[in-house]
Amino acid sequence: MALVIIEDKVMKLKQRESLLLETSSPKIDYDVAIVGAGPVGLATALGLRQRGIENIIVLDQTRAFRKVGQVIGLLPNGLKALKYIDAKAYDNIKATIDQPSNSSQVSQNTSTEKKQTSPEWHLRNVDGKKIRSIPLGYDEYFQKYGEGRVSISWYELQTQLRQLLPVERVKANHHCFNVVTESEFECVRADFVSNQKVETNSYAHWDDQQEKNESSSVNASQFPDSEITSIRAKLLLGVDGINSRVRQVIYKNTPDSGYSKPEYCGVSTIGSGGILQGAEALSEEITERFFSGSPRAVTIKNNQIPQSNVPRIVLFYPQPCQLGYLLHGAFPLESLLEKSGEELIDIAIEELKKADFPEIIQQLVALSDPDQMIQRPYYIHHATVSAPDQPKWNIGRVVLAGDAAHGMPPFLGQGANQGLEDAAAIATLVAEINKQNQWDDITAIEAAFSKYEALRRPFMTYIQQETLIARHFSSVQTSQKLQKYHQVVFSRNIEEVMQTLF
Ligand SMILES: Cc1cc2nc3c(=O)[nH]c(=O)nc-3n(C[C@H](O)[C@H](O)[C@H](O)COP(=O)(O)OP(=O)(O)OC[C@H]3O[C@@H](n4cnc5c(N)ncnc54)[C@H](O)[C@@H]3O)c2cc1C
Repeated sequence: MALVIIEDKVMKLKQRESLLLETSSPKIDYDVAIVGAGPVGLATALGLRQRGIENIIVLDQTRAFRKVGQVIGLLPNGLKALKYIDAKAYDNIKATIDQPSNSSQVSQNTSTEKKQTSPEWHLRNVDGKKIRSIPLGYDEYFQKYGEGRVSISWYELQTQLRQLLPVERVKANHHCFNVVTESEFECVRADFVSNQKVETNSYAHWDDQQEKNESSSVNASQFPDSEITSIRAKLLLGVDGINSRVRQVIYKNTPDSGYSKPEYCGVSTIGSGGILQGAEALSEEITERFFSGSPRAVTIKNNQIPQSNVPRIVLFYPQPCQLGYLLHGAFPLESLLEKSGEELIDIAIEELKKADFPEIIQQLVALSDPDQMIQRPYYIHHATVSAPDQPKWNIGRVVLAGDAAHGMPPFLGQGANQGLEDAAAIATLVAEINKQNQWDDITAIEAAFSKYEALRRPFMTYIQQETLIARHFSSVQTSQKLQKYHQVVFSRNIEEVMQTLF
């Protein structure tokens, strides 16, 4: 009997000891954990692996990887960054150019057409006259800037990058809701919820509904019926898009809390990609008037109206025989939120009327299926360096990248391209931490992240400024100014840029 009691006591002591041991030094699961398997998170993971850092994980909230997202133009600077990050990823993305499944809404020419003419995007006035054309092919850019341009869907880009990582290194169904720096253990803990009843926003956009559903509290108790898991890592990269939860958590309860959510940039899109019922006759006339010599998409604006902020409409064929549209305009945010499909159609028609768009385009919009209507306000995390109180992109071992750091509207198509430059810089700097074995040296880690920010923030400020000028849809950006911008951005030599880090 006495022996049993002693054994029991020893057992309890051992259990307590192991519990204490666990609390005093929990297992560090990974060197680097990446929240967000968008293009930037995945590219960073590839860059780290290329540089010998294999103990990494990428976690994404999407229930399962699937076809979502828009078409992205990877421009010369983004492609150069990708080549620097991982040459194989670059080769695979380039190889998608000839695959019909990757054709964008604007380059859906048949392969014969593709060989004969290089695709272009046309900007036309309301009479159908061409105002400007933008080349979309690889070669034109290559000849001018030493690297080309690739149109690829967000999902295809995600898939191409994801497939280069070992399966066990990328996990879906992990929505990060909390991040805690555990300085005493020289690591960061991130908490995730899986199998939530309501699925969260699966990619790249600010979601007001999600914002309402999810309180700013960071307790597991807000997810009573869901599975909660935690991981610990030496470094945590918040690459979870414009809607970034990591950003919200690290700025919460700090003087920077006002910067945790993005600001409305003043422009939204109202649109429909669905079949416009009974639009056959109209679409025939519209095609003849506005699509001549254009591929399957065209932008129209009324260039007779001098003021800025005049709307533009993009007409496109998501499928042959379907006509969709996206109307970009300076809509007040409150005029769009929580509006029904019918109300959005009315708002779009009113905007077109105000800007004297031809009757035929108004009629086309009037045929929209209310259930297929979308409204998408564009948001921004300002990168402005001039404001002294801008929050840093890192707090200790946690750092933000891509849209989570500096998301912005897509008017000059630089979001993903700039994110790839972030990925190149972070992979290079973390590789140095690894080489010097500085995983436990918080001073070295913070110095590395400061270098990343010093390199990236001024350039992002420039890109955002130009993007916000482009928002006005006017001719403020003269063609000469635009050429200068292209020269600066597309001609960047990423190798030289990265050398400035050391
Ligand atoms: C209409 C439109 C057109 C565009 N065109 C271009 C273009 O031509 N060229 C260009 O360069 N850019 C373009 N962009 C911008 C580009 O899509 C983004 O800049 C880019 O996708 C940002 O990549 P990211 O990896 O930082 O974030 P995202 O692509 O937003 O990926 C974030 C990932 O994080 C996941 N995530 C979010 N929250 C959590 C969480 N709490 N826990 C776990 N996972 C989470 C999401 O599911 C997602 O997979 C466009 C954007 C739009 C809206």
